[in-house]
Amino acid sequence: MTSKAAIYPPLPLPNEMTQFFWDGCQARKLMILRCKGCGRYIHYPRPVCNGCLSTDLAPAEVSGEATLYGYTVAMQAFHPYFADKLPYTLALVELVEQAGLRLTTNIVDVPEAELTTGMPVRLVWREVAPDLVLPMFTKAAS
Ligand SMILES: [Zn+2]
Repeated sequence: MTSKAAIYPPLPLPNEMTQFFWDGCQARKLMILRCKGCGRYIHYPRPVCNGCLSTDLAPAEVSGEATLYGYTVAMQAFHPYFADKLPYTLALVELVEQAGLRLTTNIVDVPEAELTTGMPVRLVWREVAPDLVLPMFTKAAS
């Protein structure tokens, strides 16, 4: 009798700076660091606002509305977890909250032929492993 161990995806390693983001994912809230001084969103999280140099930053929930900035369709698995998920779409989406505010993610449930940069996309949550919920995006209803 053989048993098949679950293959986990590469797991995030939260640190003091990024813990809020992963906690938000578990709660299915997309949290982005925001400057309390000038209101600018900052991603990836860092300790100083690159707009006004304030260190008074706090996570804020964003809408989950975005546009597709760029994408690539992965045809080969670089990790065993992805072997049965091919092809899948890696993407950079720009959140509507701020020009240039981009998040690395996956596009799901959209055939490659329908993907175009600039298309509206919306947030969907996917549980990819026990205790790991990730923000992904799909075509926004038109
Ligand atoms: Zn600022």
